[in-house]
Amino acid sequence: MKAAFFREHGSLDRIECGDLPDPVPGPGQVRIRLRAGALNHLDIFVRMGIPGISLAFPHVMGSDGAGVVESTGPGVTRAKAGDEVVLNPGINCGTCEFCLRGEHSLCATFHLIGEHIAGTFAEYVVVPEINAYPKPPALSWEEAAAFPLTFLTAWRMLVTKARGKPGETLLIIGIGGGVALAALQLAKMIGLTVGVTSGTADKLSRAKALGADFGIDHSAGDFSREARKLTGKRGVDIVLDSVGRATWKQSIASLAKGGRLLTCGATSGPNPEEDLARIFWNQLSVHGSTMGTHGEFAEMSRLFRDGRLRPVVDAVFPLSQAREAERRLEEKKQFGKIVLKVD
Ligand SMILES: [Zn+2]
Repeated sequence: MKAAFFREHGSLDRIECGDLPDPVPGPGQVRIRLRAGALNHLDIFVRMGIPGISLAFPHVMGSDGAGVVESTGPGVTRAKAGDEVVLNPGINCGTCEFCLRGEHSLCATFHLIGEHIAGTFAEYVVVPEINAYPKPPALSWEEAAAFPLTFLTAWRMLVTKARGKPGETLLIIGIGGGVALAALQLAKMIGLTVGVTSGTADKLSRAKALGADFGIDHSAGDFSREARKLTGKRGVDIVLDSVGRATWKQSIASLAKGGRLLTCGATSGPNPEEDLARIFWNQLSVHGSTMGTHGEFAEMSRLFRDGRLRPVVDAVFPLSQAREAERRLEEKKQFGKIVLKVD
């Protein structure tokens, strides 16, 4: 099969496109003929090497994908050849104490397609049948590949963890990336007032076109001052910060009393300066979150089935240009998802 992969960790020039053996579906698994895959920042972390994760090389990249079930392994009962599907990237064991509690993304052996195992930037990928969900018919292949990881992550944070309610205010740090845009779209659908920050005027105006109520240029200095000013000194109810070190303290300072801080990543580094006095005195909560459960995936994907949401696609590249696609992500030029089309 054609695939985009790397044989050792390192920079963009490690990415190769070429032929690899077709994967074979084992018990309970299905083989998907991919039509599209979508990039995530995770792909860059995986290529650079994540401490504690050792890969079997060559490693096929990509966590998001959509395609058609091509064949099934022994014991598969539900999926059948010809089914059009999108993939839930999170794989869980189903039997540990967390899985039995229904907390699939807390699974003791939780791992992602493309992170620990072969991914979706290929003609074929093999996944457990439970990870293949019906493709929302209203979406193109490129759109279908573009929503799973980011919208699942945003859904769990906003709906399950923060329990965002109509009338509350959410501030999203760094608009433009997949999770941030998914959170903006979900929050507007739920009925929150949404502010976004960016250092780029173009990204702020595009976020407003998608429904953002206010934008803050964070290159102008401490964004928490502006966030407090725009909320009558009260502060916002929820902040979504996946930037980490560079913005954490300002995010805490942006919150109203009783506010909730959501984190699902730390692209600028994991060890920020804390403000414990503000956290306890204002009774703030910090919610860490990773991916989501099968139940959350099913709930979230209904919004796409019913045509209530569409993911923002930034650019579509052919699979053979996986390196160029990843360069665009690495240079933070995107607004929305970067997608690879698999012919
Ligand atoms: Zn488990």
